[in-house]
Amino acid sequence: MRIVSSRALRRGLAVCAAGAVLVSVWLVTRTASAPTRAAAPSFDIPARVLEKALRADVEAHAAVLAGTEGAAALDWIDLLACLAVRYRGDFGRFRNADLRTLCDKLRAGESPESLAADSPRFFGYRDLYAAVLGGLAGPFRVGTETEDGTAWDDMYGLKAYSPIAAGFAYHDSDDFGSARSYGRERQHLGHDMMSPTGTPVVCVETGVVTEIGWNQYGGWRLGIRSLDGRRYYYYAHMRRGRPYHADMEKGRLVRAGDVIGYVGRTGYSTQEDVDNVGEDHLHWGLQLLDAGAAPENPEANWVDVYEITKLLYAHRSTVFQDPSTREFQRTQPFEEPLSAAAAAPPAPENAVKLPVIMYHSILRSTRGSAYIITPAQLESDLAYLQAQGFTSVTVSELTAFARGEAALPEKPVMLTFDDGHYNNVFYAEPLLAAYGMRGVLAVVGSFSDRSVREGAQNPNFSYVTWDDMTALAARGVFELENHSYRMHVPSGPRPGCAQRRDESDAEYEQAIRADLGELQERVFEVTGRRPEAFVYPFGLFTARLENILQDMGFACTMTCTYGVNFLTPGDPNALFGLKRVLRDGGTSVQNILEKYM
Ligand SMILES: [Zn+2]
Ligand SMILES: [Zn+2]
Repeated sequence: MRIVSSRALRRGLAVCAAGAVLVSVWLVTRTASAPTRAAAPSFDIPARVLEKALRADVEAHAAVLAGTEGAAALDWIDLLACLAVRYRGDFGRFRNADLRTLCDKLRAGESPESLAADSPRFFGYRDLYAAVLGGLAGPFRVGTETEDGTAWDDMYGLKAYSPIAAGFAYHDSDDFGSARSYGRERQHLGHDMMSPTGTPVVCVETGVVTEIGWNQYGGWRLGIRSLDGRRYYYYAHMRRGRPYHADMEKGRLVRAGDVIGYVGRTGYSTQEDVDNVGEDHLHWGLQLLDAGAAPENPEANWVDVYEITKLLYAHRSTVFQDPSTREFQRTQPFEEPLSAAAAAPPAPENAVKLPVIMYHSILRSTRGSAYIITPAQLESDLAYLQAQGFTSVTVSELTAFARGEAALPEKPVMLTFDDGHYNNVFYAEPLLAAYGMRGVLAVVGSFSDRSVREGAQNPNFSYVTWDDMTALAARGVFELENHSYRMHVPSGPRPGCAQRRDESDAEYEQAIRADLGELQERVFEVTGRRPEAFVYPFGLFTARLENILQDMGFACTMTCTYGVNFLTPGDPNALFGLKRVLRDGGTSVQNILEKYM
């Protein structure tokens, strides 16, 4: 059992921005992606690794604000996902040097997606970590009361609070999943913090009270849903007689660090206000709501928060007791942007919202790969889009819109299919046609050459041939775009379209022009149309690459960065760096649109 004293530990997981303007990009990059996984997630990153990744994020943020040369934003969730891929999820293998190297590569302009491109598990890890950790860090501000009112300090870093107020001792141990006997055999789906009755309980993450009152297991309990709707925090066994802070009621907004109630030992009884729990303690739990899970459902996605509890020890809310009411209050005012949406740059008034969905293979058997979905899954997406009144658009329609020559349909969506899999012709094209939709097929020249050489067309492994492209262009369901001729290689000296270490800028530009230009001409030969878009292999892109592509005449580039796009008519730059969301087997187009629109 770990004993924690109330001695303050300053771990430096937040920096004061000293009045500097916070740039919204950190929130944007932190915007989470669809974490809907069939299997229960398992979150087990040790607190020391969480701390180190967060510190790297915070220090990078400070360096960017300070204008340090070579500084670049680092998202701790991306860092953790890259490390998880490297360690195959086993953080016992963590080494500081690996984190340093990773940060150096990202600062040098590589993208987390490209660094992890050998493994499709990257997206899975990032989704899970974004779902669990997405509300714990970011910009916030803390106030100091002065004679002229509240003076605010802008901060960036760990903004969630420990559930036990500063100055109050607790002890705990790693108890997630251990057996509990009350009622029926069941697992312990939370974390117990042993502390005497009356200890102030603090809200971990800002959210809205959705559950308050008696529950036969949790006794007097509080349920608080995070503002992005992804996490449900459960605080249980609160004090008999007077469990909650007087401000608590259903629907109330509660900020991270607010006192919400008091430790007790109520619960394990169908009768209300009964102390039936052996020892005074706070039980707190964290449930992921993405899979449409019902709050408090024991079967749903509960997260082991032991290591998170340790991380939060660095950020405890200081409180004082009002002598007249005996109520505890926080001492320091706290504010944060109230939702990622509120912090995102406002959409221009006449902007059109464009979601871009990223598909890869369509096969009857997904073989457990996140990048393969079944024809039935694709069809359910198309049926949903049709029912919701979406119209699919192609790159040519977007470029006409960006030139100010044509309008877009009321609810546009773009369906992109990466890598030119033959199964897209075999399964996706007929389905798209049946639903009156069009898709964008991003082909790789060398893959097509290989399939021509091998001479066998098989949905399980082959790619569209040059003859297929001629036929595809004639049928008009798929529009063909450029995904590089020979640069779809995830590792080695040149992952994707990255610049090689031994290559000058001029040599690099030459290499990009030669490779992409060759595919432009080849597609033009067989279809009569030159692609207008470039789809970055593995989502890897840099400003230099983007400049070369604009210079080559591309009017649109597509990334693997999650999000929705806001397009302004007549803005020719609107189509560069389009965000896309991966539609993998664990999500659906409905989930994606509900999350990002
Ligand atoms: Zn418990
Ligand atoms: Zn690709």
